[in-house]
Amino acid sequence: MSLSSIYTALLWPRLEEPEPRESPGELELQARWFAGEFGTEFRTTDGRRVEIAQFGVWNRGAGPDFLDAAVSFDGRNAQRGAIELDLDPADWEVHGHGANPDFEQVVLHLYVHERAGRENFTRTALHRLVPRVRIDPRALVDLPPATPPLARLGRCSAPLRELGDARALTVLTAAARHRLERKSARFQRLTEAHGRDEALWQMLASALGYRENALPLHLLAQRLPLRLLRARRADASALLFGLAGFVHGDEFGADETRAYLRQLWERWWPWRGEWTRLVLPRGSWRLRATRPANHPQRRVAALAALAAEWPKVTALAEAPRLARATHRLARELRDEFWEHHFTLRSARQERRIALLGPARVREILANVLYPALLPERPELWEEYLALPAVLTNRRAETAAARLFGGTTVLRARLPRTVAVQQGLLQVYEDFCLRDATDCARCQFPERVRRFGER
Ligand code: SF4
Repeated sequence: MSLSSIYTALLWPRLEEPEPRESPGELELQARWFAGEFGTEFRTTDGRRVEIAQFGVWNRGAGPDFLDAAVSFDGRNAQRGAIELDLDPADWEVHGHGANPDFEQVVLHLYVHERAGRENFTRTALHRLVPRVRIDPRALVDLPPATPPLARLGRCSAPLRELGDARALTVLTAAARHRLERKSARFQRLTEAHGRDEALWQMLASALGYRENALPLHLLAQRLPLRLLRARRADASALLFGLAGFVHGDEFGADETRAYLRQLWERWWPWRGEWTRLVLPRGSWRLRATRPANHPQRRVAALAALAAEWPKVTALAEAPRLARATHRLARELRDEFWEHHFTLRSARQERRIALLGPARVREILANVLYPALLPERPELWEEYLALPAVLTNRRAETAAARLFGGTTVLRARLPRTVAVQQGLLQVYEDFCLRDATDCARCQFPERVRRFGER
């Protein structure tokens, strides 16, 4: 049985009484909510019955407190979405959530303190009314957990433990293979539509945008095809920054940034009139929770550097050791300005900042280069399996918490590789994100058991 078919087999078939004198703080309330100490059944402020089918996961980034929760109203099918907990119902507006698109996915707003005589509503930026539930701290009797877990341990953790390390690794490796083959199919479809180089160009742009800016970078690569940039090499950077909406002609800064911006502007303005309609709107880019070195302007600079070195990019297809050759190419990408600036206007940094660091290179390998090349070079699978994971992300950590009880347990049992991480992500997407029953009706545990009996 092939690895891919192993995974395919797993995949298919209160109110008026006074508040306690010392009410817990918001963080403690969040922890105790997540631990289920308030229960799972509630009434909304407008009288609807609410059942929490899945508490979701802690959000460590910008946005609502809990993501990927499942909530049912009046016994209907559970709705997936986010949950926000505030002390005061008016905090929703005070904190600007009502105008923040990140909160559009909220399906339930929890609050603690009732304000007599003040009527307000929870509305999203698109004016959707969000159901509200008041939770009562007096229901809490004992101390909160010292360290709240990222996510609750799933029902599949037991069969995965009983399976033993080697077979649990087989399950995740099979899921990683399935994920890789899906990405290969996507590359193939893009190649049929736009040709191999443009397909590679677009997928590289998306991978550079990870996580928050994959879409605007993909749009940029679609609107500025590689063949155009290669034909107008002297203008390529200016076109990319101009179409990204980062160059307006009024930027100022220290002498060095001014000179760089002037050069971008002088090359961009002759194109500007013709291209204005395609310039990405300012709101396309997500900057919150983005590390300085991952600022989208640096990603655009990296994309420009890859376009300039395109023959070296395509030569990777023949490299005997793909990972080593890709890391070497990344080290060779040079840009005097971007090696010392986080953004177009930021002050010069003395230390050199790599345009593409090792973590980004591994993302590109896992999401673009191996999927693109594996169909014609099957021997790359062994190299892929050995690729160490350096980057972690919320989804992978959540999956590790739900399937294995956390990254510490996972690392003690299985190798810390890109393949294990990709396998976790695939199971999380195929099972956890489709489950709205708090694991009760998820098929994964039984399928893992059956796999273990073979
Ligand atoms: S939903 Fe399924 S795969 Fe996810 S933690 Fe629960 S049992 Fe495991």
